[in-house]
Amino acid sequence: MPSAEAILPYLQRIDAKRWYSNFGPMLIELEARLAARFARPTLACTAANGTQALTLALLALNAKPGGLCVMPAWTFVATAHAAIQAGLVPWFVDVDPVTGVLDADHVRARLAHAPGPVSAVIPVAAFGQPLDPAPWARLHEDTGLPVVIDAAASFDSVSAAPVPTMVSLHATKSLGVGEGGFIASEDPAFIDRFRALTSFGFMGDREARFAANNAKLSEYTCAIGLTALDQWPSTRTAYIITAQRLRVSLLHTPAVRFQPGWGLDWTSSTCVVALPEGATGAVEASLKAQGVDSRRWWGLGCHRAPAFAHCPADFLPVTERLAASTLGLPYFADMDVDQVNRVALALAQALG
Ligand SMILES: *Cc1c(COP(=O)(O)O)cnc(C)c1O
Repeated sequence: MPSAEAILPYLQRIDAKRWYSNFGPMLIELEARLAARFARPTLACTAANGTQALTLALLALNAKPGGLCVMPAWTFVATAHAAIQAGLVPWFVDVDPVTGVLDADHVRARLAHAPGPVSAVIPVAAFGQPLDPAPWARLHEDTGLPVVIDAAASFDSVSAAPVPTMVSLHATKSLGVGEGGFIASEDPAFIDRFRALTSFGFMGDREARFAANNAKLSEYTCAIGLTALDQWPSTRTAYIITAQRLRVSLLHTPAVRFQPGWGLDWTSSTCVVALPEGATGAVEASLKAQGVDSRRWWGLGCHRAPAFAHCPADFLPVTERLAASTLGLPYFADMDVDQVNRVALALAQALG
């Protein structure tokens, strides 16, 4: 996260303007700079956090309440919470064994076997990896189903939003503001409706046009976002250097595999590695015994969380396998060489 000193000039601009929230100059600038990162003309609308942004996107797309929301079980619990908040019921479908994410053709094939009417689809980009939105735009065109892409951790790799795409700005994600998120879309009418849903159903005046929320970002949060964007080129380089050091330090531990392209073509704020099948529990325990923390970011899969025990689940063998053979390692932009080596050594030890 940016230091207080780096944020200060932006905070002083807030003092001078006396504009603290409700679509002030910081928010306008932040959204314009986020939108400018996309290859085609795209709009960005910020929200209080990524989870809210997903919920409000489903509402803005008029996803039919009471229906199923197709999503991977291999995701963070926020995806399922967001669907429920939008009045939908998660239907957990398995991910592709090679890519670790939902496959659009697999979803098409499973739609015929859905345990009820389907209202929406949320594909999830796994741990910041790039996700091609084109098959999902086609699925939306062919079926008419609302599609929102959960690219929460993919700030660095998202470059097109032919269907609404959510990026989280949480402190744990690549571009952190503390709590925040945004939706990107090429559809101005969708963005207008989404924005109204973040602001009492107002559209340019003070009339509440439909049931809505207050999910705006304050100017203070946007000041952090602008600072983080100023620093992004150097933050990104630091992440990549650390990733490459980790890769090198684990060259002789081939049982550990990184996400394809991680720290080379794209970067993220987490390091999630694939381990030998079923090894997660033992490696986690060994690392802990050696004083090295690790994280199962997505637990055992969303379908295993008590909150979603009532939600229908398709066959999930790949999800079960991934949950038992992946683990998040310590990783941060300013990790030093000794810390990298310590993690690599502990991991090699854990794998015997
Ligand atoms: C972080 C994350 C979210 C939630 O974003 P917040 O900004 O924390 O609400 C949703 N989905 C996935 C896959 C995430 O990693």
